[in-house]
Amino acid sequence: MGAFWTAAADLVTGAACAGCDRPGLVLCDGCRRALTPGPRAVPAPVPAVAALGYDGVVRPVLAGLKEHGRWRLQPPLAHALAAAVCAVAPDGPLALVPVPSTRASRRRRGGDPVGDLVAAAAAELRGIGVDVVVVPALRHVRRVSDQSGLGVRERGANLAGAFAARPGRALRGRSVVVVDDVVTTGATLREGVRALRAEGVVTDAAAFVAATPRRHADGVSGARS
Ligand SMILES: [Zn+2]
Repeated sequence: MGAFWTAAADLVTGAACAGCDRPGLVLCDGCRRALTPGPRAVPAPVPAVAALGYDGVVRPVLAGLKEHGRWRLQPPLAHALAAAVCAVAPDGPLALVPVPSTRASRRRRGGDPVGDLVAAAAAELRGIGVDVVVVPALRHVRRVSDQSGLGVRERGANLAGAFAARPGRALRGRSVVVVDDVVTTGATLREGVRALRAEGVVTDAAAFVAATPRRHADGVSGARS
């Protein structure tokens, strides 16, 4: 509902590009090009790939989808996630296991845009012949604080034991790929891998729309330290 009215408002008021705020399309050509996937490895306990750097236009575009219900931004982001899955997943049937959104964020967003994004990526992969299902095998078992503003160690402590896995039968015979929109320190991924392992499930890979540039390689945040 919220997404529908946002889109309707775009039509009435004239949309601005979600990436650069220029009036016109939901996403201008330049910003759309900036979302072209360029898969890069992410340091993680399993093979992990992100399609984009979490900087430049990627940040406002992801926020537009997640926080402002601009669902027309979903296709290029779903395409990026699908490209990351292709770059990292082993051959054979796949199960995408989304990192669950917190209840608080689902309530705030009026839905689960990241879950919807994963479903759209899976649909695109099926369209090119990949045998893939989405299995929401992870869930929150306790409240966690907002991760933003927390350091690496604090994030790990905030998330330790936060997830439980209920794999069921749907994962059998499939390679397990944990998926999320953004990877920062990898703490959430590690917690997901741990929870799955506790139920006897091996995570084969992980895929993300975008990865936060690592501090030492990032001139902007490096200037702060
Ligand atoms: Zn733009």
